Amino acid sequence: MEIFSAIQGEGPWVGIRQIFLRLYRCNLRCSWCDTPESFELTGKGKVETPPGSRQFQEFENPISPQATVQLLLPFLSSSHHSISLTGGEPLLQREFLVELLPLLKQRKEKIFLETGGSLPELLEPVLDQIDFISMDLKLPSSAHERPLWDKHEQFLKLASKKESYVKIVLTKATLKEDILQALSLVKKIALSIPVILQPVTPVNGDLAPTETQMLEWHSLALSELPQVRVIPQVHKLIGQK
Ligand code: SF4
Repeated sequence: MEIFSAIQGEGPWVGIRQIFLRLYRCNLRCSWCDTPESFELTGKGKVETPPGSRQFQEFENPISPQATVQLLLPFLSSSHHSISLTGGEPLLQREFLVELLPLLKQRKEKIFLETGGSLPELLEPVLDQIDFISMDLKLPSSAHERPLWDKHEQFLKLASKKESYVKIVLTKATLKEDILQALSLVKKIALSIPVILQPVTPVNGDLAPTETQMLEWHSLALSELPQVRVIPQVHKLIGQK
C-alpha cells in the first residue's frame, strides 16, 4: 500500500528511523484505528520518492515481491534501523511475505513486524525471517473488538522466541479486569517480555485515560511484571502520521 521513511513513534524503539512497508487488509476493526484506509484494496500503491521527502509516486497493485525490492532499493542504501512491516495486519499477506522476506534477508536487512497479534497460524511460516515483533494485545473494553485471549496467547508464545514486546492501548473506558487478564497472559509466557501501556490518541469518540487512571494502571502492571512503561504515540506529537 505504501513505502516511506519515518520515525518509529511507538513502543520501546521510539525514535529510531525505519523504512515502513504498509500492507493492505486487516482482520480486526479496532474502534481507535488510525489506518482505516488500509482495509480496502485500491489497485494502487505509493512509494515515497526520494525517501523522507513526503512526495509520493503511484504504482500498480498488487505488486510482486521482486518489484517491491526494486522500489525499496533507494531506501536500503540509507541509514535505517530496520524495515517495519505494518498495516493493516501485515501477516494477512503471508504468501507475499514468504517470498519477500528472504530477498530482504539476503541483503542483511532487519525486519520489524507490527501486528495485531491475533493470527498465530500466519506468524509461524515467516517467524524465522523476523527480528523484532511489536505485538498488540487488544482489550475488548478498549478496542471494542471480540475477545482474542486464546489467539493472543498462542501468538505471544511464538513471538517470544524473537525480540518482542507487547503494546496495550488504553482508553478512558478500559476495564481493570481486561488489564489484569492481559498481564496474566504475558506473565504466563515470560516475565521478561516488556509491556508498553499506550494511552489512546483520542479518535472516533475514544477518549484518552486520565492521568490518575494511567498511574493506577501502571502501578497495577508493575505489581505483576518487571518491565512496564507508559509511552504515547510520539510520532503524532511531531506531526508525523
Ligand atoms: S489491528 Fe491495527 S490496522 Fe487493524 S483495525 Fe486494529 S488498529 Fe487498525
